[in-house]
Order: sequence, then structure tokens, then C-alpha cells
Amino acid sequence: MKFPKLVNRLCPFCRKHTQHKISQNKRQAASSLSRGSKYRARKRGVARGTGNLGRYSKPAVTKFKRTGAKETKKTDLRYTCQECKKSHTQRKGIRSKKFELK
Ligand SMILES: [Zn+2]
Repeated sequence: MKFPKLVNRLCPFCRKHTQHKISQNKRQAASSLSRGSKYRARKRGVARGTGNLGRYSKPAVTKFKRTGAKETKKTDLRYTCQECKKSHTQRKGIRSKKFELK
């Protein structure tokens, strides 16, 4: 999916349509101590009790498969107003395998 770099959108700060610059938000790597990671760790029989007890270095059990994993990712765009230079995010992400700013 190709997207233009500049679009006319409503700026919530200026309250009018202005030219916006689109930039993609870079996804940050998930923390090894996050909740989702703890869930998966529990599936392989670690992360019981408090603290990690140094048990995160064990290899993952390959039997456990995450179901419902999607092939596509939702876009996470930032719109920067060219007049006031403030930025806001998109309301709904669009699913696409490949995203490109043109
Ligand atoms: Zn603005």
C-alpha cells in the first residue's frame, strides 16, 4: 500500500484543514518482563512467584503456538500539521502487509 507523504487533513489544534506531513511510528521492542511475555513464560513453565528468578534464559517450548496471529499489521501514523507543527495520531489503523510512504 502506497501513501502520500503530504495530505490535507483537519488539524484539531488549528480547527481547520491544513497540510499534514505523515510519518510512521516506529514500533518499540516488547519488554521481556511485560505482561504478555509473562503469559508466554508461564506457558513454558517459568515466571512463577515474584521476580524472574533468572529463569528467562531457558529456551521456549516450541509446542506452544500463538493462535490467531495476523499476517498483516495495522498502520500507526502520525500527522504533523505544517502550520502549527503539532502532531496527532490516526484514529483507525488500516491493515496492510506492506506500507510505503511515497
Ligand atoms: Zn495545526
